[in-house]
Amino acid sequence: MRYATIDVLVNYFPIFFDLNNQPVLVVGGGEVALRKISLLERCGARITVVAPEIAPELEERAERKAIIALARKFEPSDLQGARLVIVATSKRAVNRWIATLSEAQGIPVNVVDDKEASRFIVPAIVDRDPVIVAISTGGTSPVLARRLRERLEAFIPKRFGEFALWLQNLRRSSMDKLRDTQERRRFFESLVDGPAAKRFIDGDHRGALRIAQQLLATTAGAPRAAGEVALVGAGPGDPELLTIKALRAIQDADVILYDRLVSPAILDMARRDATLLCVGKSAGEPSTSQSEINELLIEHAQAGKRVVRLKGGDPFIFGRGGEELEALAHARIDFSVIPGITAALGIAAYAGIPLTHRDYAHSVSFVTGHADRNGKEPDWRALAAPGATAVFYMGLGRLDHIVRQLLMAGATAERPAAIVAQGTLPNQRIVTASLGTIVASAAHLALESPALLVVGDVVALQSSLTWFNVDGDPDLSQSA
Ligand code: SAH
Repeated sequence: MRYATIDVLVNYFPIFFDLNNQPVLVVGGGEVALRKISLLERCGARITVVAPEIAPELEERAERKAIIALARKFEPSDLQGARLVIVATSKRAVNRWIATLSEAQGIPVNVVDDKEASRFIVPAIVDRDPVIVAISTGGTSPVLARRLRERLEAFIPKRFGEFALWLQNLRRSSMDKLRDTQERRRFFESLVDGPAAKRFIDGDHRGALRIAQQLLATTAGAPRAAGEVALVGAGPGDPELLTIKALRAIQDADVILYDRLVSPAILDMARRDATLLCVGKSAGEPSTSQSEINELLIEHAQAGKRVVRLKGGDPFIFGRGGEELEALAHARIDFSVIPGITAALGIAAYAGIPLTHRDYAHSVSFVTGHADRNGKEPDWRALAAPGATAVFYMGLGRLDHIVRQLLMAGATAERPAAIVAQGTLPNQRIVTASLGTIVASAAHLALESPALLVVGDVVALQSSLTWFNVDGDPDLSQSA
């Protein structure tokens, strides 16, 4: 049950093509052709090169029968039987003609440096055979691709390919000793994430093997791994505000139950085979009830899964995290909590509102815009007091009630107030006004949730401290 990502067209479908023993035609016999042929040879392709002039390196390969070299002009019949065609003559018109002929026969063709005439393009690669990282910018920027390649080159250890082969060799013993795919996956994760990988990559193969054998023995003897639940804060929106620990939990999860507030970009970080369940929670729409969510968490954990309960912001700030943990504790399920940046802190930073600037505020309160379960209201006097900063969550629907209560509790109509909607996201919108005018301003701009209301003198600093999206589309970052 994979949640659908953005429905946009991608220009290229990335694939790795098995060319072993497959006939491949290369038209052109110069430097460029030579480079392509070197890689094709490593793939085990049966290469025929056609060109009136053939580079000496290619001649040499033909002499030892590694490739077939035909020293003449291309003829349409050369295409016969080819699985792939690469065209690299110096004549653009000839290249295009050959491309058209290949297309007509349904043979995938690449014309070097001519994206329009090509059916496929050849990526930049980082080669740690058998691990290959292929990079494409879809032809938009070769410089960008090159830079990315350089970074990956520096980042991926030279022995990475060897390490992959070593892991492959361990597959057999893991099959014999470990009980199921889940257990095997955990074993390999411990190898890849733990000291064994470091040992191997540092060249200590025996040390790595010792660790692997120990790990195999302990995993095989251990009682079956029980499931667990991590309650994870996904932050206010900008995916880069995720903690490193949250990222790891998301990537390791077998099952993720997420709220509607969680960004799609964050969900994209999950494993492709993870189960993603949206358990709703957006105002006014039907959603999974709290007890159903608790049951789902327990059910998946009891099935031995690693479950992530992913919430917007921080799980303990108006996130009902506490209730879910009570249910887990009751069911004796292991859990952990990974905090996130709560919306108030995220929007304060991105909107330029220093919540407790010492010249203006002595405290900050996070307040729910809803009355509590028993209908009780917050301490409006304290929130209205001078030097108090108040941040209201879920307050958009009751904005006029909140403003009226603050005014009645003694706040002045001039007290600065702001609403920040879609905070930390590219479409963040800020409305700054005062308690006296904020209701009218918000109505005028038709702000949409999620949004926070911030009330306090610190809000006045916003106009000079704003930095995020300031040069953006004025339609998206209006202030009134
Ligand atoms: N646990 C979350 C809050 C959940 S309550 C946290 O710590 O942030 C949901 C409310 O949070 C919304 O109604 C809105 O008031 C606020 N909120 C969440 N994300 C927001 C965002 N990106 N911008 C503005 N407000 C946001």
